[in-house]
Amino acid sequence: MPRFFISFFIMLICAHTSHAQFRVIIDPGHGGSDLGATRDSFVESKIVLSIANKLKHELESENVEVILTRDNDLHLSLQQRVQLANEKKADLFLSLHANWSGSTQVSGFEFYFASHQKKSQLANESHLAKPAEIIEKIKSDLTLLGRQKLSLDFSLQAQQQIADQKSVIRRAPFYVIENTTMPAVLIEVGFISNRREAKKLASPEYQSEIASLLAKSVLSYKQKSTPLKEKSDKKLSLNEK
Ligand SMILES: [Zn+2]
Repeated sequence: MPRFFISFFIMLICAHTSHAQFRVIIDPGHGGSDLGATRDSFVESKIVLSIANKLKHELESENVEVILTRDNDLHLSLQQRVQLANEKKADLFLSLHANWSGSTQVSGFEFYFASHQKKSQLANESHLAKPAEIIEKIKSDLTLLGRQKLSLDFSLQAQQQIADQKSVIRRAPFYVIENTTMPAVLIEVGFISNRREAKKLASPEYQSEIASLLAKSVLSYKQKSTPLKEKSDKKLSLNEK
C-alpha cells in the first residue's frame, strides 16, 4: 500500500474529528452490576474507574479535552459507549480494563486495536457492479487502514512509556474498538487473576503511575498527529469558503 494513500486517509480521519482541542474519550470498562474481573476484594470496574479519573485529571492539566463514558459506578452498554464516542467525534478512544487469566502467574499490559477483518476485504470487490461503488469500497477500506495505523501508533507510544513492564500489542474484534469511528485502543492494565498484580492495581499510588504513563502516551501521540489534524482543519476551512 503506497504510503501516500495511507497518509491521505489518515488526513481524512483527522478531518472527520475536526475540532480545535485534542479530544480523548476514556472508557472505564464494566460498572454497576457488571463488576468485570474480580479476585478477593479486587474489582475491575472500580480499579479502571479510578485510573480513568486520574488520567482525566492529568490530561486536562495538559490542555487535552477529556470525556469519560462513565464517571461513577454506573452500568453502560457497549453500544452506549460507542455512540457517545462517535457523537463527540473524539480524536482518540481509550477503553480501560483489567485482565483475567486461568494462570495466576500471568501479568502485564495488553493493548488491543480492531482487526476489521470482516469489514475490510480488500481483494473482494467483484460483487460490486458500479465503478463508483468500487471507489467507495476502496475509500472505506483505506479509512479503516488509516485508523488501524493510528491505533497501532498509540499502542507503540504506550509500550515505549512502560518499557520496564511486560506488554503486548494485539488485534481483536472487541465491540468498542470495532465500532468507534476514530483511532481506538482497549488497554488491559494488568491481571486481576495474579494476586500480586491485583494488589498493586488496587493501590492509589500504582493507579497514579499508570495514569501518568498513559497521559504521556496520549501527549506524544497527540504531538505526532497534531500536524495532520491542523493540515486537515485548514483544508476543511478552505473547502467551506
Ligand atoms: Zn474488562
